[in-house]
Amino acid sequence: MNFQKLREQVLDANLDLVRQGLVLFTFGNVSGISREDGVVIIKPSGVPYDQLRPEDLVATDLNGRILEGNLRPSSDLPTHLVLYNSFPGIGGVAHSHSEYATSWAQARQPIPCLGTTHADYFHGSVPVTEVMTEDEIAGDYEHNTGLAIVRTFRGIDHESIPAVLVANHGPFAWGPDAKSAAHNAVIVEAIARMAFFTTVIKADAPAIGSGLHDKHFLRKHGRHAYYGQPKLKRDQ
Ligand SMILES: [Zn+2]
Repeated sequence: MNFQKLREQVLDANLDLVRQGLVLFTFGNVSGISREDGVVIIKPSGVPYDQLRPEDLVATDLNGRILEGNLRPSSDLPTHLVLYNSFPGIGGVAHSHSEYATSWAQARQPIPCLGTTHADYFHGSVPVTEVMTEDEIAGDYEHNTGLAIVRTFRGIDHESIPAVLVANHGPFAWGPDAKSAAHNAVIVEAIARMAFFTTVIKADAPAIGSGLHDKHFLRKHGRHAYYGQPKLKRDQ
């Protein structure tokens, strides 16, 4: 067992968060999963990004049992595992404390869809979880954070809205693989920033109309997508 390719991809996705200015110090973490093997690769806890090597990443199973690695996994691993176990289609999870998305999380406000940048990626508002109870916090906190996210998605399609704000904490995003999860985390920050400015300019700025929202989301996603180029070999 080695998962070298997956390790490299997950490392690169973690570095994407740094390159895009989403993380301070060692905050944030990205993981990826090999569904075939039931193996999750995640950033180790507390290691500076500029020192990370592929072999430093930790391999676990879907119960969090460490399969490979001498370092402790990110303390948010149990949250990632709940998402992998509950959202079977996803292949990567990214978490950051990026400034604007975290500000919305701290305000306990979903990010409203005010324009097409948001609509290109999310078929609705980016929701916010309920505030966690004292028992949830005192208990298996990171696992319970995952459960709070999953509860938020009762009635919401996690593939159409691939991110959430954990109340008073920050965003989690996911996607088909680690790179796309990190990409979605970057997009969440960008749309959080734009929504912040929009609502400063006009506090009651109306949400994008459903016609324009559907147009932008559906031209990039689903059976009738036509945005971009047909799948090229180099993209696969
Ligand atoms: Zn966090």
